Amino acid sequence: MRSRAAEYELVTPGTLAGVLELMAAEPGVWTPMAGGTELMVQFGAGRLRARKLVNIFGLAELKAIREEPDGLWIGAGTTYTQLRCSEAVRRGYPLLARAAGWTGSIANQNRGTLGGNLVNGSPAADSPPALLAYGAELDLVSGRGVRRVAYDKFHTGYKTSVLQPDELVQGVWLPRSAGHGVEYLRKVGPRNAMAISKVALGAVGSLPEGKIAGVRIGLASVAYAPLRCVRTEQVLQGAPLTNALVEDARACLLGEMAPLDDLRSTGRYRAEVAGNLLEEFLGQLRKGANPAGKSMEKERYG
Ligand SMILES: Cc1cc2nc3c(=O)[nH]c(=O)nc-3n(C[C@H](O)[C@H](O)[C@H](O)COP(=O)(O)OP(=O)(O)OC[C@H]3O[C@@H](n4cnc5c(N)ncnc54)[C@H](O)[C@@H]3O)c2cc1C
Repeated sequence: MRSRAAEYELVTPGTLAGVLELMAAEPGVWTPMAGGTELMVQFGAGRLRARKLVNIFGLAELKAIREEPDGLWIGAGTTYTQLRCSEAVRRGYPLLARAAGWTGSIANQNRGTLGGNLVNGSPAADSPPALLAYGAELDLVSGRGVRRVAYDKFHTGYKTSVLQPDELVQGVWLPRSAGHGVEYLRKVGPRNAMAISKVALGAVGSLPEGKIAGVRIGLASVAYAPLRCVRTEQVLQGAPLTNALVEDARACLLGEMAPLDDLRSTGRYRAEVAGNLLEEFLGQLRKGANPAGKSMEKERYG
């Protein structure tokens, strides 16, 4: 059953200070609405519990993309269209630009925001594997100030996070040291467009003097939330890239995730494919280069 619009209130303070004031006065009462591509689906289906919505779409304080000497700051209100068209994102963090291009349709990309994707917290969301691989951090803002948290510590459970009821995600920080060497991102879904991933893996790393360095791995659709594969990274870090190591890393990755059976796939399939993607990344690390575009293709698989 559709929702009745008259039962909802939507306000537009127009400034970040105005939004935060409202949220501080009644914590948990006001739900921020950015692009609305998640919230309006819930509204359309009669499932939107929040009755008081505060519009944050287009807020200048949440929109900038700023290049700084040691990294890139991306406002949480940045849309996918802005992400995939940004020269700074494409040049410095190409996996994120590519993931933005995979997300939904052009209409979704024009409205949907990076912050909305992260706070919504779907385990299958498209931005997280790239953000985890790049070592992203989030700026959380409230009337009490700004605090920065590592993105791999943001999700605490299925669609839950460390975000407090009076806080917004203001922006995403991507450190510049990230992303050197081989960068890998592959999403496996039922088709090439408008598909929710069955598994996706993003990774960066390099192989100076035959030993793995700077490796970071992010996985989607294999746990209650996007997953940084810390134990697998530890197995790989500093080790010579031998066939035995690849097997050890694959076994470790399988132990680190908890893939579910659901309507989109089985846990067994997800585990197998995640292992294959890890091997593909390590194969590219061995070659030392991305084979012409293949690593970043969204693939139909099986
Ligand atoms: C047809 C369709 C296809 C889609 N395809 C994909 C896809 O391929 N891949 C994918 O990953 N997602 C997909 N999505 C999901 C959705 O588009 C994205 O998750 C999008 O990024 C959500 O952003 P939004 O700004 O629209 O969020 P909203 O709907 O505005 O908000 C979502 C949640 O985040 C909160 N929120 C938003 N911004 C902030 C902020 N700055 N601080 C604190 N809380 C905030 C809201 O309160 C709400 O709880 C799809 C959705 C639809 C309807």
